[in-house]
Amino acid sequence: MRAAVFLGPGECEVLERGLPGLQEGEVLVRVEASGVCGTDLHIYKGEFPARFPLIAGHEFAGVIEETGPGVEHLRPGDRVAINPNIPCGLCRPCERGLPHLCHNLRAIGVTMDGGFATHCVVPVHQAHKLPEGMSFAVASLSEPVACCLHGIEQADPQPGDVVLVIGAGMIGLVMLQLALLRGASAVIVSEPSEQKRKMALSLGAALAVDPQEDDLDAAVSSALGDPGADVVIECVGSEQTAQQAVSAAREGGRVLFFGVAPEGSRVPISPYEVYRKEITIKGSFTNPFTQGRALALLASGRVKVEDLITHRMPLSDLPRALELLATHQTIRTLIEPQE
Ligand SMILES: [Zn+2]
Ligand SMILES: [Zn+2]
Repeated sequence: MRAAVFLGPGECEVLERGLPGLQEGEVLVRVEASGVCGTDLHIYKGEFPARFPLIAGHEFAGVIEETGPGVEHLRPGDRVAINPNIPCGLCRPCERGLPHLCHNLRAIGVTMDGGFATHCVVPVHQAHKLPEGMSFAVASLSEPVACCLHGIEQADPQPGDVVLVIGAGMIGLVMLQLALLRGASAVIVSEPSEQKRKMALSLGAALAVDPQEDDLDAAVSSALGDPGADVVIECVGSEQTAQQAVSAAREGGRVLFFGVAPEGSRVPISPYEVYRKEITIKGSFTNPFTQGRALALLASGRVKVEDLITHRMPLSDLPRALELLATHQTIRTLIEPQE
């Protein structure tokens, strides 16, 4: 097999490796499409707790090529998408039904080798069979869609709510669609890139504001008659946008921190304002129990990701894909390892 291996921070090389042997309950997946995500960039820069050398890539889909002992419900030829997160099943959060918050969480492409390779071994329970006719490209993005599904359930917009999405990358553009599916009366998007604002409007945003040009509150007031939003979804992870998210929430509003902020970042918020407006601030981590529903939603066509795939590249171009991501020139890049 061939793999793009992170040898250390900022170092990536395509290497030939022997195919790993299969243990009990494992399957060998031939990787057909593997999404490049912000987490991969954090790992590449050495800003994320991962071990080197590592084959990253945690958003991927492909075909089962071989099954290990004890695997019964999948066979060679089955088309699958991978849920990368593997809880231990024994710790306190696992026992309390919060497996994604597992103390011993392992993740394919983060703590174990992942999908930036022609092949990857995964435990069979992490492989979800694809709905009929779904492309590998769309299926590979079921992982971030599954994370967004958990996120929208944490933010819990109600029919008729005004929802503000801060940041219209892949995640923000999926959140926009999910908020509309939940009956939002208007979804407002704040995003500096013109290309992404256009995409947001074409996906149904009522208003797309450039935060570098316009005052967000004033723009929302003039469009909707009232400033602020019932639900604010922060999809950037910067201190500035986190602070903006809290101050943009209306009375009784809910704020979701979805963007991955650096571990050490801190934001001043007004406890008085949180108290006086009864604001709820929530977080959302990964994709508990949502992978199957994400695939079903993508198959139904009610959430669209095809147009969010702006680049497709072979394995050897992974460093270029990460560079384009770092400089905000892509919405989603797919690595196609068989190319
Ligand atoms: Zn990801
Ligand atoms: Zn656990």
